[in-house]
Amino acid sequence: MSKDAEENSRFNWPIVGHLNIVNYLQRSLTNNSIAHAYLFVGTPHLGKATVAKSFTDSLICQNLAKDNEDNEKIPCGSCNGCKQIKNGIHPDVYWLSREVNDKTDKLKKNISIEQIRQIQSKLSLHSFLNSYKIAIIDEAETLSLEAANALLKLLEEPTAKTVLILLTANLAKIPKTVASRCQVLKFLPVKYEDIFDHLRSLKVDRKKATVLANLSFGQPGMAINYATDNELYLDFQDQAKQFVTLLGSKANTRLKMLGEVVDLKDINSIKDSLNIWSKVLRDLVLIKLNNENLISNHRFLTDLKELASKFSPKSLASTIINLNSSRRYLDANVNPKLVLENLVLNF
Ligand SMILES: [Zn+2]
Repeated sequence: MSKDAEENSRFNWPIVGHLNIVNYLQRSLTNNSIAHAYLFVGTPHLGKATVAKSFTDSLICQNLAKDNEDNEKIPCGSCNGCKQIKNGIHPDVYWLSREVNDKTDKLKKNISIEQIRQIQSKLSLHSFLNSYKIAIIDEAETLSLEAANALLKLLEEPTAKTVLILLTANLAKIPKTVASRCQVLKFLPVKYEDIFDHLRSLKVDRKKATVLANLSFGQPGMAINYATDNELYLDFQDQAKQFVTLLGSKANTRLKMLGEVVDLKDINSIKDSLNIWSKVLRDLVLIKLNNENLISNHRFLTDLKELASKFSPKSLASTIINLNSSRRYLDANVNPKLVLENLVLNF
């Protein structure tokens, strides 16, 4: 057995793909060479939070430091640390994300400086259990400027046995001063085969596993969500169908339909819609290339075929380019209504 495989066999992490990152983190755990701060970079649903959780759980597991005579897997699930994690009451692990605005019931735009200050004071206290103190910050790109500055202080003067894990989909929006003090790990899309095998291990039938692995674009989290939440999958199909109708309509109808098809006030929902749209466009390209067996939306194959006949490969390519530009404009905070209207007018 290779050295890597021996090390890996000690850990029990439910991760799909990302072998390099998983190996690297597991080696740091085995060698006790833990960095003070990590920055996990990658698009949503790739598994950043799942890896962060497995890494955190392993750091907390009291069996990690012991000799492994019983061949106990890490995290063991049965020590005090693991039990507290399981019940969500471990006093040394903090998950931080944007808070909900009480008045509007929507997520606030930023992670605030107050939230970072709270973390700061919690991390500075001594751990009762003599364990690591860990803070995981989700959507780190939403840190307000003040919050990022406060975080920087924390990164510049780390206390012993504290670990910060920042998760982000957008490295460009993380201040360089912050990123440069973190161990940056980049998450790439996961191979089709790995996602397919994982879905099969969840007892998803072969046909559905093929469809979901195809439409997930290398994002295991998305494939798993669709496999386990049928309502979500049906909603995906509805939205895809609506987009097919929109795409097949005349320009003025497309403009009128836009507000019904997309929630123009909710940026995350717009981004989700654009993901679904890009899958429909990909299906159209696949149909043009006589690869219908690989498409994501089998249910309305006839509509897709009819639609594909109206587009040349060149116009499909330019639509995909326009859609990707729209994503960049949204990331740069250009008015969403303007971006989307521009997009649908140029189909
Ligand atoms: Zn344990």
